[in-house]
Amino acid sequence: MEGSVQSQFEVTTSANRPLVEETGDRLTALRQQMEFLNKIGKRFVAAIDRFQVHHALLATLQELYHFSACSILLEGDPIELTFNLSIIPCYPLSESFFQEMIDRIARAAEVMGFTGITAEELAMLSYLDAPDDLAQSALPEHPVATSIGAYLNIPLTVENRIIGVLSLFDEHEHAFDTDLLQLTTMIADYAAVALDNVRLREREIALWREAELERQRLELILSSMAEGLLITNRQGAITSLNNSAQHLMALTGLHVEHIVSIPLRQLAAQQQAPWLELLAEIIEQALAGKIVMNSEVIAGSHEEGVPLTLSISVAPLYDRSVTHTKLLGAVAVLNDITSHKQIDKLKDEFVSIVSHELRTPLTAIKGYTQHLIRRIERRLRESHSAQPAHTVSELPESYDLRSLNIVQSQTDHLERLVNDLLDLSRVQLGDLQLHCSSFYLSDVLAECVRQAQVSADQHNILLEIESHDSKIVADKSRVSQVIGNVLDNAIKYSPQGKQVKVRLEAQGSQDSKGRESSEEGEYLVSVSDEGIGVNPEYFDHIFERFYRVRNAASQQFSGIGMGLYIAKVIVEAHGGRIWLTSNQDRGSTFYFTLPRVPHMP
Ligand code: ADP
Repeated sequence: MEGSVQSQFEVTTSANRPLVEETGDRLTALRQQMEFLNKIGKRFVAAIDRFQVHHALLATLQELYHFSACSILLEGDPIELTFNLSIIPCYPLSESFFQEMIDRIARAAEVMGFTGITAEELAMLSYLDAPDDLAQSALPEHPVATSIGAYLNIPLTVENRIIGVLSLFDEHEHAFDTDLLQLTTMIADYAAVALDNVRLREREIALWREAELERQRLELILSSMAEGLLITNRQGAITSLNNSAQHLMALTGLHVEHIVSIPLRQLAAQQQAPWLELLAEIIEQALAGKIVMNSEVIAGSHEEGVPLTLSISVAPLYDRSVTHTKLLGAVAVLNDITSHKQIDKLKDEFVSIVSHELRTPLTAIKGYTQHLIRRIERRLRESHSAQPAHTVSELPESYDLRSLNIVQSQTDHLERLVNDLLDLSRVQLGDLQLHCSSFYLSDVLAECVRQAQVSADQHNILLEIESHDSKIVADKSRVSQVIGNVLDNAIKYSPQGKQVKVRLEAQGSQDSKGRESSEEGEYLVSVSDEGIGVNPEYFDHIFERFYRVRNAASQQFSGIGMGLYIAKVIVEAHGGRIWLTSNQDRGSTFYFTLPRVPHMP
């Protein structure tokens, strides 16, 4: 032990001694106290982990007392109620000494308010922090402390909160001088603050490590993503981009060092890259709070001259805290869809070639069928004049005529399909042209219903014309194509014998002065059936190219999912709209509008 600290703190006074002398003694004692506290303060401040605090504590306490062991019980996590118990022996202790220590620590913990912690749990939690020289001796040599003679428990307090218990144990009775209690409490306070600091630092380091690991994990995910990802600031300048985005940029001839931190508009002008203008536009929309999905942009071309097509989705990037939401920039996901586009192009070319090829034999079949029908009709007319009427219907020619009528109606159906396929190619090439003329919509509807009724003799097709005047300027054959497609579906997707209702009404045909106007307003055509209906979740999809509802009811009918797509394209090309209402199992009504005079979009 370094000198006798106890004597350093003995501040005796005597009534016989002169005041100056007495004051001098007090000052000396005070100075010694200060020096001692300063020395231990430095020891604790220098400790950077809990073991160093333990050893600083042990060294300090050993200057005051002789004892066999000390222990530090520390609250690990006040919420989860976990504890750390370190036992620091000064020399070897027996098994029973340990057990007694644990029992007394458990009791002290309970007294100090740490409820619910048992001696068994403490025994499991305890950590033997033996000084190095003690730990190194293989077998404990004499003396071995065998039972506790005296002990002292002092709360470890930080800002009036008890964070643990410091306990001292000795094998001899009366080992702890109560005169030193105040000083021991001060030392415990130093230790408590040092331990609390270590604990905070440990927690901070653990959090930092966790955050760092998370950051590294995210970085790994982003860098191994197949999609290009780029982040911009609020000014629309790219601040970071992952490997895939760098690769895509390189395909367009741009390198990271040339693009980072420059606002995209400026970059587009610098690089003379129109696609960057488009990217800037999309990013600006996101910076204005909008989410943009799958916007297609041609960003250059591959080596073989194939256009490099990117699908770009952008969303605003916010810093959301409890108190505020701040826009940081935008995040964009770039997908190279060039190969999909190529496949689509091949598909379109295939469809176009096949439909052209089909048209030639189809025209021949149609022509010869009509020719045969006309010949048989002529023969039957002649037979009619020569024989009684009831025998004519039993002639083989009458059978042939019925068969040929079916062939003709099926050929018409096939022709419509082939025309739809051809139209599809035209739409894909942006080559669908309208040849408008003036006609009565009611006439076209009546003709379509008549034709449909021929092939659907089991269905009852009803036509309701609610408008006296149905004059319209539109592409007549295209309009009948729309009606044909919708009507065909109504028949196809409803059971035999059911009714299909076609309605025509005029809407908003008055001009701004309340007069009937031939220019303004539109016609509303609806086709209702009593068939299988369409679930609302498919309402938007069924107007998409090649989309067919995949449920048991729809799959019983053949089709290629193109009729409604073409109908939509034609209606919209006239400036109209197409939609439906439906009750699953109780039928559907398809509506479309056509302006009296087309409003080309
Ligand atoms: P297709 O009939 O050749 O499949 P369409 O484009 O004409 O293609 O129709 C797309 C899908 O919409 C159909 O597959 C069918 O599932 C659904 N559909 C269209 N019309 C009706 C209808 N009247 N009743 C029920 N379902 C319909």
